[in-house]
Amino acid sequence: MSAVAFDKTGTLTIGAPAVVAYRAVDCENPSGDCARCDDLLALACAVERRSEHPLAQAIVEASADRGLLARYPVAEAVTSMPGRGVTGAVNGRTVIVGSHGYFDQAVAHPSSVCDEIEDVSSRGLTPMLIGADGAYCGYAVVADTLRPSSPAALASLRAAGVQHTVMLTGDNLATARRIADEAGVDEVYAGLLPEQKAEVVRALMAEYGAVAMVGDGINDAPALAVATVGVAMGAGTAQALETADVALMGDDLGKLAYACA
Ligand code: ADP
Ligand code: MG
Repeated sequence: MSAVAFDKTGTLTIGAPAVVAYRAVDCENPSGDCARCDDLLALACAVERRSEHPLAQAIVEASADRGLLARYPVAEAVTSMPGRGVTGAVNGRTVIVGSHGYFDQAVAHPSSVCDEIEDVSSRGLTPMLIGADGAYCGYAVVADTLRPSSPAALASLRAAGVQHTVMLTGDNLATARRIADEAGVDEVYAGLLPEQKAEVVRALMAEYGAVAMVGDGINDAPALAVATVGVAMGAGTAQALETADVALMGDDLGKLAYACA
């Protein structure tokens, strides 16, 4: 194999993110508990309860920990926007939870928020912005952990003769760069929608020949399908296991170099 591409969330990272901070636009107590920030978390949770994304689980778990699950009814008319976020109706309000890139296109927010979000991203954390009825309401910050086996897996691929390694992610560039550096991945493509991940794999195949794609199936099934060899994380989605050629049992990235040699 000449090049190997990896999904980020759930592949190079464990994919069990946790909420580490959340801040309402009208926060009353930046240094401690705040009822308005809790209300923001509860509102986001009402929509995320209907999403299967790992980021959604982080929001729901944090809300449960704070005893906020009953604050709002579970959202209706929930629509997921793959690679961007999720939207739904909560008590008649249209609530959106999504990436900074998506909010830059869809929901106006103060430039001070952009600065805070960029700072958070440069530390490898993933921000999610929250809006209601077209107005920005606040953000939540989620931390995922690098899989401890990722750096060694990348090193063994290189030792086995793989020339180039790439990360493909829907997350923002700053977060992606930080995680890629920790894992030892050569190149990063961020802000990608599922179809764009497949396009990058096609371009890599044109440049390098045989290309393996490793993913968990959440927003990367098209890329798994077009790669010379698609490798599914064993604990990935059913779709990943159906689409891929190889499954890594026990999510063991350490076996990858043997599969790709
Ligand atoms: P990755 O490629 O790292 O697996 P995804 O393509 O699944 O990431 O998602 C890209 C980005 O879209 C996320 O970082 C997040 O900002 C946003 N996003 C996707 N799904 C959701 C969701 N259910 N709730 C909030 N944000 C989401
Ligand atoms: Mg993923």
